[in-house]
Amino acid sequence: MDYPHCGGVKQSPIDIRTGEVVVDPTHLAPIVFSGYDQVSNIQYTLENNGHTVQVDLNDQKMLISEGGLGSTFVAEQFHFHWGAADTRGSEHSINGRHYPMEMHIVHYNRRYGNLTTAMDKEDGLAVLGFFFEIGRFNVHFEQIIHHFKEIKYKNENVPIHSIPLMELIPARLFNYFRYQGSLTTPPCYESVTWTLFNETIEIAEEQVCILLKHRSMDVLII
Ligand SMILES: [Zn+2]
Repeated sequence: MDYPHCGGVKQSPIDIRTGEVVVDPTHLAPIVFSGYDQVSNIQYTLENNGHTVQVDLNDQKMLISEGGLGSTFVAEQFHFHWGAADTRGSEHSINGRHYPMEMHIVHYNRRYGNLTTAMDKEDGLAVLGFFFEIGRFNVHFEQIIHHFKEIKYKNENVPIHSIPLMELIPARLFNYFRYQGSLTTPPCYESVTWTLFNETIEIAEEQVCILLKHRSMDVLII
């Protein structure tokens, strides 16, 4: 297969060099999160898609806007990236340093109506990226991780109770890095406004180990 976009100049992931980051306090106001704290009866779908573990949000209305995004974006799914060793699992890095794990919350621009239509548009997608650090046991993520044993094989999925996304992400969301990039795997469309947060998510080592057992699912979608 030929993927011409993969040779582009705005490819992700990247290493963030903090010394080269331009501070832009006027443009990069805080992101406004809507519905992220909502408790709902809608169930999420946890699935092993053969590439990663993904949680589909099933049209639960969660939006992000402002924060220099230029549009309103709708949350579609989140998924994880991790590696063979707990020191090097993240896709992005900061000053050359990788983190054990990285979570991406994928949003599409509301004007395009759905992810598929938005995917190849220049302003089509906004992905929020969060790094994990080894620390305290994370009770919120445990609600997801304890279902992993039910999706050991490709294409298995299981409904899980919805979790307000606010419970999964850090409390302080003011400091972030922003760049225009791409899907991290083919077709590599340069359609992603990336936001990487400075504040990390703590997770216990034994929880990361459960992910490491799913090592075979390490080819990534976005
Ligand atoms: Zn991703």
